[in-house]
Amino acid sequence: MPLPLDGLFTYAISDVLAAKVQSGMRLLVPLGKSKMYVGITVALHDKPVNTVTDDGKAVEFKNVISVLDEAPILLPKQYELWKWISDYYMCPLGDILKAAMPSGLKAEEAYKPRTETYIALTPKFSDDKSLHIAFSMLQRAAKQKEVLETYLKLINETLPHPSSFNHHPSPAVTREELTNATKATAANVKALIDRGILYTYEVEVGRLNNSGEPHPENIKPLTTAQSDAYNRLLMQMMRRNVTLMHGVTSSGKTEMYIHLIQKTIDEGRQVLYLLPEIALTVQMMDRLRRVFGNRLGIYHSRYSDAERVEIWKKQLSGHPYDIILGARSAVFLPYQNLGLVIVDEEHESSFKQQEPSPRYHARSVAIVLASKYKGCKVLLGTATPSLESLYNAKQGKYGYVELKERYKGIKLPHVEVIDIKDLRRRKMMKGPLSPPLIAAMRNALENGKQVILFQNRRGFAPMLECKTCGWVPKCENCDVSLTLHKNTNTLTCHYCGYTYKVPEKCPCCESNEVSSRGYGTERIEDVVEEIFPDARIARMDLDTTRTHNAYERIISDFSSGKTNVLIGTQMVSKGLDFDNVGVVGITDADTMLNYPDFRAYEQAFQMMCQVSGRAGRKGERGLVMLQTRNADMPVIRQVATIDNEVFYRETLAERQEFGYPPFRRLIYAYLKHRHEDITVSAAVYMGGILRQWFGSRVLGPDKPAVARVKTLAIRKIVMKLENGIDLPKVRTYLKKARQQVVSEKRFAAVQIYFDVDPM
Ligand code: ADP
Ligand code: ZN
Ligand code: ZN
Repeated sequence: MPLPLDGLFTYAISDVLAAKVQSGMRLLVPLGKSKMYVGITVALHDKPVNTVTDDGKAVEFKNVISVLDEAPILLPKQYELWKWISDYYMCPLGDILKAAMPSGLKAEEAYKPRTETYIALTPKFSDDKSLHIAFSMLQRAAKQKEVLETYLKLINETLPHPSSFNHHPSPAVTREELTNATKATAANVKALIDRGILYTYEVEVGRLNNSGEPHPENIKPLTTAQSDAYNRLLMQMMRRNVTLMHGVTSSGKTEMYIHLIQKTIDEGRQVLYLLPEIALTVQMMDRLRRVFGNRLGIYHSRYSDAERVEIWKKQLSGHPYDIILGARSAVFLPYQNLGLVIVDEEHESSFKQQEPSPRYHARSVAIVLASKYKGCKVLLGTATPSLESLYNAKQGKYGYVELKERYKGIKLPHVEVIDIKDLRRRKMMKGPLSPPLIAAMRNALENGKQVILFQNRRGFAPMLECKTCGWVPKCENCDVSLTLHKNTNTLTCHYCGYTYKVPEKCPCCESNEVSSRGYGTERIEDVVEEIFPDARIARMDLDTTRTHNAYERIISDFSSGKTNVLIGTQMVSKGLDFDNVGVVGITDADTMLNYPDFRAYEQAFQMMCQVSGRAGRKGERGLVMLQTRNADMPVIRQVATIDNEVFYRETLAERQEFGYPPFRRLIYAYLKHRHEDITVSAAVYMGGILRQWFGSRVLGPDKPAVARVKTLAIRKIVMKLENGIDLPKVRTYLKKARQQVVSEKRFAAVQIYFDVDPM
């Protein structure tokens, strides 16, 4: 059932329905007093079940109302995977069902194909003479007359012989086209229908864009260095289920994936290609479509529910997609004969779902998914491996292939570290962009090159502040300061989404000197506009990519040179492939370094190397300008020399010393309640229970950096577990501890959940 409840439900079923039902089909069933739900059948049996309730009454099984499918929509391997996720990540199966299935499949109505409404003349009015009569009927209805004229004009443009249609005209004009082409309203069209002049009919339209034949000849031949790496890759993949390809940015990893995909589909097997970010799937889709045409399907949360239903069904049909390109939720789709899973940019933390449950890591799930199909291989690809994957490769658990050379031998970009602290001291910093960065940008733009600026904060300014008394506006529901958005002139909480009016005066001291502090992407955009009035600037962050085709537009405008400065959050840092970027500016490396998490340096390193990798991919060597107040930090030096090896060696040593992944496993327990004191005592109580069993493996409870979100006070308990520990047993004890806490009356309303392998 699509409910956050552990376990399965048993229903009675009539013989008639039992004859129809199979595992994996949806059922409509009652639950509680009056609710109906769509659940999925996992077993049909006639074994006696526990028919007595705890208080000794006989259990009455409710009846299945109806069977909604003629064939299973959940394959056995999918269900096995879901069970694994539920078990490993300690989340209810129902949460996975909710996350995995498009809501069109969870709703009780049968699936409805999408139709489009077409308009045609009724047979009565479809010859010239009766049309004449129609127009005379409309003498006093100018608007309707205009609609009819437009209709005839449109139909003339599209159909060679408008008078020759017989029963159904070939689809020519949709209601939408007609209303778009006239100033008339839907009511005017309806009036013509009521008069019997026009009528409407529905035509089913496929939502999936099936256009485009495959063009395998578009596969690029590999260079010597690439084909050498490719051969090593094939060797590694023969011997290992999972292989890590560690190739510097722009070395041609994607070209190698394309060769491997072709090889896999030639063998008649399916490929799943996972990317961490929707912006990336947009660009990759173009690249893969050129080769694989309509053998490629795309799947991610930005697609409409109806489209996702359709892809799901196609995957079950006799003609599934050979290749699915998608974001993390694509691991939930049905696959009939999976042969290869590619996890591109495998180091990305956004492969881990944080909120809501299931808090799964798509890379781990992909590896388990592949293991369900005989001989299915996993390829992890990146220029900056996660420490986990690199460690697994070094231990010989994963295959490993390295490629250190960029395509065409272009050198990795030159990274210049700009010491902001020093410039400040010398009074040379005015605003967020240092003189050397501005000079580099100017030079690039004057030479017809493009610029990417990376600022890992959206909005105009991360906070507002009273210059007189120091007051900072905070969210009422969360313990965070509010971000100023100038476009909408609001203060927004990035944790709960709540927006507030911008105060004119300080509510504490009535001072008028309330001003913004710090820089977000929006403000950087303003600054660049001021310095480079002729630049054509685009911004890519969560706020500019909410609408349907926003990603496509921003990326294609920058690719084609329509825009020449791209400002963005981490969205611009990932594997995008642009030809003409001369300079990449990292405006503020410090926010990333100051993040309170043991992975902060790793993620900062990866992010900076990745964004640097966008520079100088074709032609000349690129330039990266890295602004920081911590110019002496080793991690900054390592980014500057793009020195993977030193970074990995030192960071691994640190992780080992302090007992962090990949040398230990982490599980966090989160406790939430409206009242902080209840949260705290529940957390202390739970910590005590866990310590009895796990001893010093338990740390905390601690107050997390953001200790209140959406009105709930939060505490966190950290479990550090040695690698060989009996995990099923650990999970049993964790659940037991949770049970023990919430069974205390005063803690009954405390929410407790686990985050396994947190990121
Ligand atoms: P990566 O995925 O490692 O960042 P890409 O596969 O995106 O690298 O390659 C970088 C650029 O070089 C792309 O524009 C790609 O088309 C081009 N390229 C790489 N290898 C070849 C090749 N063998 N032939 C032609 N173009 C190539
Ligand atoms: Zn004040
Ligand atoms: Zn909030």
